[in-house]
Amino acid sequence: MTDDTGLVPVSRAQLAAWDARVQPAVEQVAPDVWAIPVPIPAGTIPHTLSYALVADDGVHLIDPGWDAPESLDALASGLAVIDRTLDDVRTVIATHFHPDHLGAADALRRTVGARVVFSGVEDAVLQQETAPEAYDSAVYRAQLREWGVPADRWDELLASFDRPALVAPAGPDDAVADGDVLELSGHRLRVIATPGHTDGHICLVDDERRLLYSGDHVLPRIFPGVGIGVLPGADPLADYFDSLDLLAPYDEHTVLPGHEYGFRGLGARRAQLIGHHLRRTTELAALLEEDAGRTVWEYARRLTWTAGWEGMTGFWLHSALRQTELHRDYATNPRSRARIDAHRAERAQRR
Ligand SMILES: [Zn+2]
Repeated sequence: MTDDTGLVPVSRAQLAAWDARVQPAVEQVAPDVWAIPVPIPAGTIPHTLSYALVADDGVHLIDPGWDAPESLDALASGLAVIDRTLDDVRTVIATHFHPDHLGAADALRRTVGARVVFSGVEDAVLQQETAPEAYDSAVYRAQLREWGVPADRWDELLASFDRPALVAPAGPDDAVADGDVLELSGHRLRVIATPGHTDGHICLVDDERRLLYSGDHVLPRIFPGVGIGVLPGADPLADYFDSLDLLAPYDEHTVLPGHEYGFRGLGARRAQLIGHHLRRTTELAALLEEDAGRTVWEYARRLTWTAGWEGMTGFWLHSALRQTELHRDYATNPRSRARIDAHRAERAQRR
């Protein structure tokens, strides 16, 4: 059976729970691999899927989820279902630094002595994103000026900018990079650097079980945001597309994502994700061709938005402006030329 995206869910229970906005049950998704839903107390996404890799020497966790008492309780009761406790956790691997993934890693290190593993690039992103400058409204004001945001829209944007750091700037015990292999007593995981969502995002491949742990790089129905934590000089869209191409060898693997539900059909999903973003890029490229040199604000208001430009406020307005900037940068990057041309040719042919 396929769902409405043409993908094949491997867990109907996870899919049904996601649609009903309730927590699914703890579920075995592969030999010695269990998916544990960990609630996210803040925000619009209800839970993270944390993966418990059970081994002779204990439990190795991929993406422990949010650092809050109720989230850690859910993790503990999830482990209890498989006769394990938080004390059994040996390793915590995070796909990226966002609080719904890396969140509880440092707490587990401090309380049960777990070894924390994530990418060295992501550590640099984490340090940057938790530094005082990241919360300096003067820096954001300069950004709003550069984007050409009219004065009467600054207050709502500054209000949405004023948010606390949700994750501790605690680095990894073991900083990994592309190609590294983690030997976890019966679970052999290969690290694949997949920059785009964040600069240091990683996916993990288990070739023996034919699994791809995809974090937020690939989700079955949500279109992950791009460039939510990048180092200076990055082109997150170009990186994101390259990182999707890179996964082609695993198109037959089962994808175990950070949210929603496990699925098969990675090739189809990769194509959907690339097509989704390129539609916006080509729309912006057309605007740039007819009217170059405008501000991000001027381009953003002329693009098509699902919720309509007029309804865009606060954080959503910020997000729209940031996306517009990313697509403008990508459209004008020589690295993007071939991909944009191919996408246009393909769309012209379909018409
Ligand atoms: Zn996430």
